[in-house]
Amino acid sequence: MGAIHKLSPILSNQIAAGEVVERPASVVKELVENSIDAHSTQIDVNISDAGFKMIQVIDDGRGIDPKDLPLAFTRHATSKIIDRRDLFNVHSLGFRGEALPSIASVADVDLKTSNGTEGAEYHVRGGKLIDRKPAELRRGTSVSVSNLFFNTPARLKYMKTPATELSKITDAMNQIALGHPEISFTLVHNQRELLRTAGRNDQLQVIGGIYGASKAHKMLSFKGADLDFKINGYVSLPELTRANRNYVVVILNGRFVKNYSIVKAIVDGYKSKLMVGRYPIAVINIQTDPTLVDVNVHPTKQSVRISKEEQLCTLITNTIAERFLHQNLIPDVMNQQ
Ligand code: ADP
Ligand code: MG
Repeated sequence: MGAIHKLSPILSNQIAAGEVVERPASVVKELVENSIDAHSTQIDVNISDAGFKMIQVIDDGRGIDPKDLPLAFTRHATSKIIDRRDLFNVHSLGFRGEALPSIASVADVDLKTSNGTEGAEYHVRGGKLIDRKPAELRRGTSVSVSNLFFNTPARLKYMKTPATELSKITDAMNQIALGHPEISFTLVHNQRELLRTAGRNDQLQVIGGIYGASKAHKMLSFKGADLDFKINGYVSLPELTRANRNYVVVILNGRFVKNYSIVKAIVDGYKSKLMVGRYPIAVINIQTDPTLVDVNVHPTKQSVRISKEEQLCTLITNTIAERFLHQNLIPDVMNQQ
């Protein structure tokens, strides 16, 4: 017999988990993105002990057909894309079919779901099915993750303090909530409410909820478009700045992405109004044909490749620069409130 053998599904899921499930915040992000893809209108996230004790995400989305549940926990099984063409035209947040099997390979996952007619509950631990039973539930899905990294001690050791892990969860939730003002979110940690959004499709209201109403009053709205991109969002007045760029949130087709060129394009729009090394608070929504975006760059899908990125950056800089020109002539409505 040769020396090469195929790894067991449990082991290959654990290897994938190394990339997909870096820390508690990654679990929150993946589960909430699944809830968004299921067209939920209300998504509640409950956390105990910075996610190490429990992460629970409850949604009112379309649920999973109980017959599909074994596949939901199988790697590279997804309901979101079918063929190669779809891969270059992704409309959902997920598509790799990796999150649930990865999380379930390094934790205890208890998933209850109902599609409105049938419901089921699955308990998977370290990649092994422990228990399954029929469940009654209103339409939607509830996923509870406990004992995270119980079987990967090295990963557990690498975790930062609970306060740091919790702040990463809060950041992830804030980014998602900013990108989806049409959905009502709650985030509760050890019974304390950290975020609540109304789901009224009002991004400025979400900004106010996260950064405070006084900051929201110092934001200017902007809007622009060219043949390929539509952009809109809010930028802070030059007097309201931060020492790092974490407060510039870029949402591309509903997905929070990290892209320094876009951050720079926003900063360039301020011309000389910002002090060197200072960054604004900003949220930018970019809509474009999904075929112009390659999201298949990294398992977490936070870095993406955008065709015509330079054209997009020019549009952003010009739109914001013009907005400030306009602002000097006509005081913004928001600032008069
Ligand atoms: P992906 O999101 O890339 O498809 P996941 O492993 O995250 O892969 O989820 C696997 C499948 O399970 C999804 O394609 C979806 O059909 C189903 N699923 C997961 N979470 C939910 C949810 N909250 N509501 C409805 N379906 C879900
Ligand atoms: Mg997913």
